[in-house]
Amino acid sequence: MSATAMLEARRAVAIPRGLGTRDIYAARAENAELWDVRGRHFIDFAAGIAVLNTGHRHPAIVAAAQAQLDTFTHTCFHVSPFEAYIRLAERLNTLTPGDFAKKTMLVTTGAEAVENAVKIARSATGRSAVIAFGGAFHGRTMMGMALTGKVAPYKRGFGPFPAEVFHAPFPKTYHGVDTQQAIAGLQQLFRTDVDPARVAAIIVEPVQGEGGFYIAPFDFLRQLRATCDEHGILLIADEIQTGIARTGRMFAIEHADVAPDLIVMAKGLGGGFPLAAVTGRADLMDAAAPGGLGGTFGGNPVSISAAHAVLDVVEAEGLCARAETIGHVMLSRFEGLARRNTLHCIGDVRGLGAMVAVEFVKDRATREPDAALTAALVAKAQENGLILLYCGVDSNIVRLLTPLTIPMAHLDEGLDLLEASLDAVAGT
Ligand code: PMP
Repeated sequence: MSATAMLEARRAVAIPRGLGTRDIYAARAENAELWDVRGRHFIDFAAGIAVLNTGHRHPAIVAAAQAQLDTFTHTCFHVSPFEAYIRLAERLNTLTPGDFAKKTMLVTTGAEAVENAVKIARSATGRSAVIAFGGAFHGRTMMGMALTGKVAPYKRGFGPFPAEVFHAPFPKTYHGVDTQQAIAGLQQLFRTDVDPARVAAIIVEPVQGEGGFYIAPFDFLRQLRATCDEHGILLIADEIQTGIARTGRMFAIEHADVAPDLIVMAKGLGGGFPLAAVTGRADLMDAAAPGGLGGTFGGNPVSISAAHAVLDVVEAEGLCARAETIGHVMLSRFEGLARRNTLHCIGDVRGLGAMVAVEFVKDRATREPDAALTAALVAKAQENGLILLYCGVDSNIVRLLTPLTIPMAHLDEGLDLLEASLDAVAGT
C-alpha cells in the first residue's frame, strides 16, 4: 500500500466525506512547487485556492511569522491589543479604493468577514435585506450559504437559511447576460421581491470565483454603484478571491474605478496564515456598539505579521504588474489552443490579470457544459504533475490560480503539462 493509499484509508475513516479532498498529500512546498508524501512533484496552479499569491513559504513571510513567534502568539485583541493590528488596519484603510475615512476589523476566515460586513451594513442602515448574485460564492456559514448562489453542494440539506436574502442575475457575457439585462434583473427584483428601501446592501464579487471566473463588466459595477446610491443601499465588494494583486490591481473593483462602501478580503492577505478583514467607510464601521463585533481569534498576531510581509512583498516585487504578465502568458497560450481545430471543447477563455479560466463545452454552438471532460482534465493533469482546480455552477470551468511569484519556467512547464493533459483527454 502506498503512503497515499494509507492516508486515504485513514482519512475515509476519520474525516467526514463532506470535506471534499484530492489525494495529493503534501510533504513540502516552495513557491509554485509542491511535493507529496510519495515524492511526486507538482507545479501548483491552485495556490491553496488563491491564498498563496506570494507563493509557498516566501522567505520574507516565513521570517516575519518566525519573528512574531518569539514575542507572542495570541493575546485576544479585545484583552490586550497590539500595534501591528492597528498598523495593518491603517495600511488596509489606505490601500483599499475610496477617498474617504475608513476603518478595518480583522477576523479569521472569508466567511466570517462576509458575516461581519452584513452585520455592519444592517446596523448602519437599519435595514435588513441583502442582495447577492446567481452563481456567487460567499462562504459556508449560515449567512454565507444564504448569499451563495449555487445549491449543490453548498446549500443542499443545510437550510433554513437567514431570511431577507435575494439573488439577482450576474452578467455572464458568454451566456448571453449583458450589463443591461443584469441591471434589469435587479430592477425587476425591486418590483417583485423586495422594496429597495429595505435593502441594506448588495454584495458582489467583481470576478465570480467559485461561480466560474465570470468577470463583471466594469460598466455593470459602475451601474451597480449608481443604483446603490439612488436607493441608499451599501455596496459590499467580496474581494476574498480577487484581492491582493490577483487581478493586476490590489483589488479587482479598482479596474472599474468604483469605491465600495465595504470591502471584504481574506485568502491572499495572510500569505498562508488565516486572516480576513472588513474595511469600510469609518461611519459605517462604527455603527455597531462596543462588544458587537469581534471574536477570540480575530487578528491573530502571527497572521498579522505575515500580512505585513505580504503587503511589502506585493509592493517590492511588483506583483500587480506580475499578475498582468502571467495573465497575458496564460491567455495567449489558451487562445492559441482554442484556435486549434481539434479542440472544439474550448468554449471560452477569459481572464483579468492572473485570474484566468477556460470554459469547456460539448458543442461551441450550444455552449452545453462539459463537466466530464473538465473532471478528466483535472485528473489527468494531476497524474502529469500539475495541480489544477475547476469551478462553475456546472463544474465545467478550469481556473488557473498560480502564485504571482511563480518563476516563468514553472509557468511554462505548468502550461505545457496542461496542454499535454488536454490533448490526452480531448483527443486530437
Ligand atoms: N467569498 C469568496 C469570493 C470566496 O472565494 C470564498 C472562498 N472560496 C469565500 C467567500 C469564503 O472564504 P472562507 O473559505 O475563507 O470562509
